[in-house]
Amino acid sequence: MSKNTKRNYQWISFDKDKCISCKKCVDYCPRDVLRLGEHGVPFMKYKDDCWYCDVCSYICPKNAVILEEVPYLIK
Ligand code: SF4
Ligand code: SF4
Repeated sequence: MSKNTKRNYQWISFDKDKCISCKKCVDYCPRDVLRLGEHGVPFMKYKDDCWYCDVCSYICPKNAVILEEVPYLIK
């Protein structure tokens, strides 16, 4: 993984086929990290503020939020 790829890496991904754009993950994130993006699928707008707390995946009614591994060097 190149340095540039690490900087752009987002450790939370969203299954666009499952997501119903309910915005719960955006509203419940305690760090205000997420925003709805194109086609109503969320993305990490302020990923540096993420605490990796798992609230977004816990609250999602469609199980569409996936927390990936966080590379050690970018935390
Ligand atoms: S893991 Fe926590 S802080 Fe990070 S985006 Fe999800 S709810 Fe927000
Ligand atoms: S809570 Fe789940 S279904 Fe709702 S907008 Fe977020 S990812 Fe999509």
